[in-house]
Amino acid sequence: MEKIASFTIDHIKLLPGLYVSRKDHVGSEVITTFDIRMTKPNGEPVMNTAEVHTIEHLGATFLRNDENWKDRTVYFGPMGCRTGFYLLLAGDYTSEDIVSLMKEMFTFIRDFDGEVPGASPKDCGNYLDMNLPMANWLADRYLREVLDGITKERLVYPE
Ligand SMILES: [Zn+2]
Repeated sequence: MEKIASFTIDHIKLLPGLYVSRKDHVGSEVITTFDIRMTKPNGEPVMNTAEVHTIEHLGATFLRNDENWKDRTVYFGPMGCRTGFYLLLAGDYTSEDIVSLMKEMFTFIRDFDGEVPGASPKDCGNYLDMNLPMANWLADRYLREVLDGITKERLVYPE
C-alpha cells in the first residue's frame, strides 16, 4: 500500500508547532488540515488520554461557537500518537492565517474552569476520562513556547 502523506513528514526533525498537514479538494471547496503539534515527536512524553480528551471537548466547543470560524470548522480531534491535534477547516489557508484563532482557542482552554462541556454520560462515550488541570497546563505551555512569537520553523514542515 502507498505511504500516506502524513507519514512522509520527518518526525525526527519536527518541532512542536502549527503546520499545514494537507489540502484536499472536495467538490469546489478546499479543505485545509492543520497539524497542531503540542509535544516533540519521539522526544518527550506524549500527552495522556485524559488531557487530550479534555482539550478535544474544549477546543471543539470553542471552534463551534466562534462567529468567524464555526461555519468553516469541519473537524477538530486528537492524533492517535497523542502528540497533537488535527483541525480541518473549509477553505485554503496557511498556518499563519490561524495563529490568532489558535491563540484565542488555547487561551480559552488555559483559562477554562468548571464543568467541561459535554463531559456527561449522555454526551460522551467516556465522560469520566478528563483531566482539566493538565489541559490548562498544556494549553499554557503551547501558548508560551509555540504560539507567542511563533517562528517560521514552527509554521512550515521541515524539509
Ligand atoms: Zn468525550
